[in-house]
Order: sequence, then structure tokens, then C-alpha cells
Amino acid sequence: MSEPVGEAKLEVKQASKEVKESENVAEKYSAMTVSKNSEITMGELSTVFSAVPTHKPVKKQIQFVEDKQEFSRFPTKAGRRSLSRSISQSSTDSYSSAASYTDSSDDETSPRDKTQVNSKGSSDFCVKNIKQAEFGRREIEIAEQDMSALISLRKRAQSEKPLAGAKIVGCTHITAQTAVLIETLVALGAQCRWTACNIYSTQNEVAAALSETGVAVFAWKGESEDDFWWCIDRCINTETWQPNMILDDGGDLTHWMYKKYPNVFKKIRGIVEESVTGVHRLYQLSKAGKLCVPAMNVNDSVTKQKFDNLYCCRESILDGLKRTTDVMFGGKQVVVCGYGEVGKGCCAALKALGAIVYVTEIDPICALQACMDGFRVVKLNEVIRQVDVIITCTGNKNVVTRDQLDRMKNGSIVCNMGHSNTEIDVASLRTPELTWERVRSQVDHVIWPDGKRIILLAEGRLLNLSCSTVPTFVLSITATTQALALIELYNAPEGRYKQDVYLLPKKMDEYVASLHLATFDAHLTELSDEQAKYLGLNKNGPFKPNYYRY
Ligand code: NAD
Repeated sequence: MSEPVGEAKLEVKQASKEVKESENVAEKYSAMTVSKNSEITMGELSTVFSAVPTHKPVKKQIQFVEDKQEFSRFPTKAGRRSLSRSISQSSTDSYSSAASYTDSSDDETSPRDKTQVNSKGSSDFCVKNIKQAEFGRREIEIAEQDMSALISLRKRAQSEKPLAGAKIVGCTHITAQTAVLIETLVALGAQCRWTACNIYSTQNEVAAALSETGVAVFAWKGESEDDFWWCIDRCINTETWQPNMILDDGGDLTHWMYKKYPNVFKKIRGIVEESVTGVHRLYQLSKAGKLCVPAMNVNDSVTKQKFDNLYCCRESILDGLKRTTDVMFGGKQVVVCGYGEVGKGCCAALKALGAIVYVTEIDPICALQACMDGFRVVKLNEVIRQVDVIITCTGNKNVVTRDQLDRMKNGSIVCNMGHSNTEIDVASLRTPELTWERVRSQVDHVIWPDGKRIILLAEGRLLNLSCSTVPTFVLSITATTQALALIELYNAPEGRYKQDVYLLPKKMDEYVASLHLATFDAHLTELSDEQAKYLGLNKNGPFKPNYYRY
């Protein structure tokens, strides 16, 4: 199982060698055209988008686990239900998707025990209820409205079919937004089989809609651990279909294929990985000399990190808190632990609603940023008795301890926006003297013997993933980046990519951003020849060196 992200965090420092390489690569691609109207063909894309190799050191070894429990092929129904949910970190805590509007409540029959057939007579899928396909289609259509850049990429590239022959096996959150991505890949010529990277986040109706159109989906909301691995296996293990590309979020599918189907793995042309956790696992494989396939690290793309982490959290923090607690923020005292991208987004949103926001930080640079943005930087112990809300977003563990939870005032809200569910020491609250009362879905009152209670959200798991949706537009940016990474890896001439982990070149980030500018009717200023010469830039970009931090 993957390790908590906080422990495995990448070092920010990049080797000077890497920077030089990146600059060379950037120069090489300066011929690419991204006009202000973003007119670029797929042909251009695949010739110019060689990615930047990265050799980031990791602070802590991540085990590519040997001991993952294999799913039982024929467990009893009762056995399946009783299987624990202590599934891999990435499958429960991955953060890039929305919670589903559907739940799995009424029909207790496991999808694995049902025989379902779509209208074309195919039964090569396993979803909760294929009859929900029409409902799911409407959800997908709603998502499409706010993913116009991805749709425009689909339209532009549809005739060229840059993914013709690609057989993509995917393991991501299965939501309406992901469906728009999957259907884009299909429109560009790919065949897809898909499974969920998270046992809770599948929108059942969307899984049904995809299965109805012929995408082999194996996923439903509320899978057991056994189901989770069974679904992954069903995606890979078919006699008639051999994948040649992977799109992963968390690395579980990659891991499964690497371990169980090494011969299939060797034939993969490229892996695109979205999450911090999955990227760490890839770097680890690469470091051990075991990565026999080129991989793209989408997580560290500017268009992922500076948008998903910051803007997504800026919007969804309030949504998650409101839906679960109906809290009013004006005048409330809130402490946000961690002032990275996620923390910055949370603080900005809370401040805008009139909350009094404190920040805790370990890093003097981020602490200074918080000060300059008008937040009081404190130690948690200084404010623990007075705050109404505590939000963790550090990627670290034990940021809020039992001792601190003991000292919080009655009625305070405790939640986490970081990847791992170990930021708040929730385990320490599971002791006999404390009473847990489930008051709403994902909302627990933890009650002390003297009657004091705190409101714990999502049992310390990612608040926005568990309790709200995340904004579609942000997912469009990430999905467009993923689609381009797949196109690039699939079309790259032999030898362009070695068996390594690559970052997308800045040119590609700029292209993804430019596609999304149209939504805002934003008009880019063009450099004059004189200005371009003065700055030493190509008029068409890239506009920043690779070390630029935005
Ligand atoms: P980041 O590295 O930019 O920020 C984390 C900050 O926490 C850093 O500034 C670090 O110095 C600080 N920190 C570490 N330990 C601390 C401690 N004990 N006390 C106070 N501060 C501490 O990372 P990020 O992009 O902001 O992501 C943070 C977490 O959120 C990660 O786990 C990431 O995977 C997750 N994430 C969540 C979402 C979401 O939708 N909820 C989106 C993106 C990322």
C-alpha cells in the first residue's frame, strides 16, 4: 500500500543538471506555435512536446509493496461485504475528483453478482445499474458545458485521430468530468477500459452511461477492498484486448499490472500519472531501475498544481464545510495548518467570507507569505482553545494531536484538506471514554465525558473529496493536460522517451492554459519583435524558464 504523502514528499530542490537539461529542451521546442487563438494541430503537438526528464530525489523510500492482498476470485457475498475498507492510501484519499451525487444504498446485491447487458448486447462491464445510463448521460452533458477547452481539443483533433490504435486502461475517479475526458480519448481514436481509483467516488450513473456507449467500466460507489482489486484486474486481464497505455491516479493499476502481468506491462508505451502518490511510486520504480516504460508526471505540471490545488480548494473548502455543518463563517476564528497551495486557497476563501484566519507553518517562506497576505502566523497551541474551526492542509501527519483536540472548545469543527487521513490524529479519538455519534453522512460528533463535543468531518479524510463536489472547470484543465500527455507519449518517435519519469514541457502547460482562456474571453498581449529580442524570448513561447515559480 502506498505511504502517506507527507512522509514521501518530494524535495523541491532540483539538481542544476536538470535545469540545464530543461532549458535545452525548452529551446528545442521554441518553434512551436501557440497563437493567441491557440490554433495548433495534433501533428505539431506530437513533434514539439517532448517532455522534460526529471530525476527528483525523494526524501523517503516508498515501497512498491510486495504484500498487497490479492483479491479472492470467488469470495462469498458475506465475505465481500465484511472486507475491510483499509484500502491503499491512494484509493481512498486521492483528491482530484468530486464526490458522487448517487449512493449505493437501495440495491444490496453486489454488481459482481448481477448479469447486465447494455443496449448493444455487450456485458463487458460491471457497474451498479446499467439502467441509470440515461441519467448519467445528462450528468456528463452538464459537465461538458464547463469543459469547453477539452471539448475544443476533441473537436480539433477528431479528424486526425491521434490516438488511433491506443488501448488505454484507466484508473481514476469515475465522475461526470472524467467521463468527458474518456469520451474525448475515444473520439480521438482510443479504446478504453476503466476502473475507479477510489472506492467511494464513483458516480454510478456515469459509470452506467459510459458502459452503455461501449467503454468497459468496472466500478461502483462503495466497493470493498476485494472489489477494488477485482475491478482493476478485470480491466487488465482480458484475452482479446491488450492495453498499450495507462492513465493512472494513485499508481494502483500500474502497480497491479507491474506485479501480476509483467509481460503486458513491458509492452506499455507510456504511463500518465496524476497524483502525488502515484508519481512518488513511479520515481521509486525508476530509481530502482525497474521502470521499463516512459511515464509522464502530470501532478507537477503547473496547470495541475497551481490550479487544482489552489483554485479547486479555494472553492470547495466552503462547499464541504457548508454542506456538512451549515456553519456561518463571518467572524468565526479559523486556523489553517499549512500555507502551501491548498492552504492559500482555503485561507483566501475563508477571509473573503469574513472569518478571522490564523495560519500555522513550519517553513519561513510560506509563513512570510501568510503574513504579507494579512494572516496571523501562530503556533497551534496558541490558538487551540479559541478557534471555531481547524483545517489541516500540510501533507504531513499528526499535525493535530489528541492533546490539542482535548483542549478545543465545545462545538468546534475539525477537518482535513490534505491527501492523507493522518493529518489529524483521528485514531487517538477512538478510545472508550469518548463517544462517537454519527449525526449526518460524513459528520461525527465526538463527545468527551464532560459533555464537550467536537464536530469531526469525513473522519479526517479529504473534506472536499468526501463531502462536496469540486469545480468542473478546474478538472477540465487537469483533464486536458492528461489528454495531451497521452497523445504525446503515444505518438512520440521511438527513442524520444526513455524508461524514466518526465515532466510535461512548459510549452504544453502554456498550451493547456491558452485553450482555457477562451472561456473568459481573455485577450493575450503579443510580444513585438523588439520586445521578444529584448527579453530573449521566442514570440510564441515558452514565456518562462522552467525554474519559474508562478
Ligand atoms: P504544499 O507542499 O504546497 O503545502 C503544504 C504546506 O504545509 C507547506 O508549506 C509546508 O511547509 C506546510 N507544513 C508541513 N508540515 C506542517 C506542519 N506540521 N504544520 C504546519 N505546516 C506544515 O502542498 P499543497 O499543494 O498545498 O498540498 C497539501 C496537501 O493537500 C497534500 O497532501 C496534497 O496532496 C493535498 N491536496 C489536496 C487537494 C484537495 O482537493 N483537497 C488538492 C490538491 C492537493
